[in-house]
Amino acid sequence: MKRMLFLTLALAVALTLMPLSSFAAPTYVTIGTGGVTGVYYPTGGAIAKMVNKKRKEYNLRATVESTGGSVFNVNAIGTGDLEFGVVQSDRQYQAYNGVADWEGAPVKKLRAVFSIHPESVTIVANAGKNIKTVADLKGKIVNIGNPGSGQRGNAMDLFEAAGINVDKDLQAEGMKAAESASMLQDGRIDAFFYTVGHPNGSVKEAVSGATKVNFVEVPGDIVKKLTDKFSYYAPAEIPVDQYSGVTNTADASTFGVKATLCTSSDVSDAAVYAITKEVFDNFDEFKTLHPAFAKLTKESMLQGLSAPLHPGAIKYYKEVGLMK
Ligand code: GLU
Repeated sequence: MKRMLFLTLALAVALTLMPLSSFAAPTYVTIGTGGVTGVYYPTGGAIAKMVNKKRKEYNLRATVESTGGSVFNVNAIGTGDLEFGVVQSDRQYQAYNGVADWEGAPVKKLRAVFSIHPESVTIVANAGKNIKTVADLKGKIVNIGNPGSGQRGNAMDLFEAAGINVDKDLQAEGMKAAESASMLQDGRIDAFFYTVGHPNGSVKEAVSGATKVNFVEVPGDIVKKLTDKFSYYAPAEIPVDQYSGVTNTADASTFGVKATLCTSSDVSDAAVYAITKEVFDNFDEFKTLHPAFAKLTKESMLQGLSAPLHPGAIKYYKEVGLMK
């Protein structure tokens, strides 16, 4: 009888110590990112690194995939082709609420996990073309981004606010951001849009070639129009000191969003909990993994989320008191 009691107790202790969130069979999750010279790709790598350190404990393995960007990631999460994806906060809002690219077809399975670094709508131009401000883009060849990217919609919103007709007033191209820097340097485009955290490899590549480049200003009245109309937009600046070689002498004014980590309601609480816990429990280390994370705070990572939070993330936030 005593022995039975001991065994039952031992079992109870073992069960309590065993992480509730571990998987019996190895589980694989993929995080969709963006082009390899952006910030999403190393961000996905940083998140995967944190959770993979504990892969034995959780029996979970995260891998990272380079993709076309936010819109691609949301759609792949919706179809179950990706478990996680880095997504612009504006795209998260639009997809969940069925507006913009998702008009009439909301992605109701979309769930928020946490937000990450700020991203600014960055317009990089050939300095020889005299494109100082948005209105100067008229008559130019401008890469607004591939259809799967986040920036394409930001460019369209900006054109509308600035009274630029995208079909008549300029020649819009739809290439991936990873191709933009070399196309600008080769003179095949005059400017490109990239909604991205700073510093990043693409903009560094664009400013370090033989062709001089500048950041295009979005005037304050246009920024105001955009932030008044869309709650997910905020004023932003492009830091010139992070890009030696750019011809601007002061930070360029623009507007921006936040990068966020999204998942699906079909993804298990255990997987979402593990990722959230490893990033937040090792926050100081996580912040060192990319210079765009320099100003992150745990509290800021719970802001800018518009899809419902995934229950696996809520469980962690409640445990540590980040949520009531
Ligand atoms: N914001 C871009 C997009 O949604 C990606 C930026 C990056 O890769 O860092 O397509």
